[in-house]
Amino acid sequence: TGYSESRYQELVELDKKHFLHPTSSIKQQQEKGPALIFTEGKGIYVKDIKGKSYLDGFSSLWNVNVGYGRTELGQAAMDQMEKLAFSSCFSTFSHEPAILLSAKIAELAPESLNTVFFTSGGSESNDTAFKLVRYYWMLKGQPEKKKIISRRRSYHGVAMGSTSATGLAAFRTFTNSPLPDFFQVDNFSIEALLELIETEGPDTIAAFISEPIQGTGGVILPPDNYFTQVREICDKHNILFIADEVITGFGRTGKNFGIEHFGVTPDIICFAKGVTSAYIPLGGLIISEQIHSDLKELSNGIFFHGYTYSGHPTSCAVGLKNLEIIEQENLVENARMMGEELLRGFQWLQKEHAIVGEVRGIGLMGAIELYKDKTTNERFESPIAPGLAAELLNNGLICRGVTYEGSDMLAFAPPLVINQEEIAKIIEIIDKVLLNFE
Ligand code: PLP
Repeated sequence: TGYSESRYQELVELDKKHFLHPTSSIKQQQEKGPALIFTEGKGIYVKDIKGKSYLDGFSSLWNVNVGYGRTELGQAAMDQMEKLAFSSCFSTFSHEPAILLSAKIAELAPESLNTVFFTSGGSESNDTAFKLVRYYWMLKGQPEKKKIISRRRSYHGVAMGSTSATGLAAFRTFTNSPLPDFFQVDNFSIEALLELIETEGPDTIAAFISEPIQGTGGVILPPDNYFTQVREICDKHNILFIADEVITGFGRTGKNFGIEHFGVTPDIICFAKGVTSAYIPLGGLIISEQIHSDLKELSNGIFFHGYTYSGHPTSCAVGLKNLEIIEQENLVENARMMGEELLRGFQWLQKEHAIVGEVRGIGLMGAIELYKDKTTNERFESPIAPGLAAELLNNGLICRGVTYEGSDMLAFAPPLVINQEEIAKIIEIIDKVLLNFE
């Protein structure tokens, strides 16, 4: 691998000493150091420093959608860096990659969403959306419309606003209370949503935010008609509907955007991850023509919001090339077909293994629920997903063990370039590990 044992040990020690990992157990990290140090990747496989290969069944963080080692993306970054490494888009300045990428995204987005604001990631996108909707209602003469409603089990990121909107309590409350003006309702409960709107008053509510398919919460699909009802309620009460498509955007679910599965159009779409397949950080929002034209008409001053890297030319150039790859290689359709294959594999595992209960998925997002007794939905006394995920890792498969809020499941999100044999490999490894477990 080109790494000696002593170099490995040196990296472990430096990691323990200097590197505070995101979303990590600081104590465990301090005691044990990194479990794996990855060094390279090709297609859907990554290798660690010891030369062991892993099938990345999670696209790292749901985001390496075109797979690893795509030299075209490196080339696009290099070409742009050589030509114009950086140029601000503040105020009236612009540049070609940001212009072309915003046009491309508008083309892919639902028909009435045509204007793009760029950020560096998902959390920034959601925080921008929260500020934008508040600004919007201020301009419309309703400054008291500033509350944000989200759902339990949702994940919207870790900036102050997006943390406060996040429904997974572990994220929202671990530092201190979330910001005021953020409210959560029970997942998929239309009654709870109506009740909250009634209690708080529709004239105080700016927007409702929701992932089309909950990702971090455990690949949870909404019931039929849920979003149709949400859209109707939002329209009735002048509440803007923000779709958080950070995971589901750009093909992961087998459509360009996840919300397209449910036949409704949001007012704002937030995106990140898949727009560059993680080769470089980039996120953003797509806003409706209605909002954009109202803003143009009503706003006299300046929209005092913009990140230094809003529309970074290199990120935009990589984004453009990435979307071109997705189109040329038909990856949205591949995600749909391979998603069906993955789900068939999960259904087979369900027949074969006593502990595999509900299985679900849409496109290349999937999950397997684990039960001690699936006939009675009895869970294991302590969750087994983390141990199973570790065992799968030992067997060369990366996935995520999800255990918060009573769940005990494995979640999968392989790269969109995956093929049938590689899906079969995922199922084979799970089968083998479960056989040993039982
Ligand atoms: N929204 C959703 C639905 C996400 O899944 C994530 C990250 O996983 C975020 C927002 C936050 O994005 P980022 O980590 O890029 O800030």
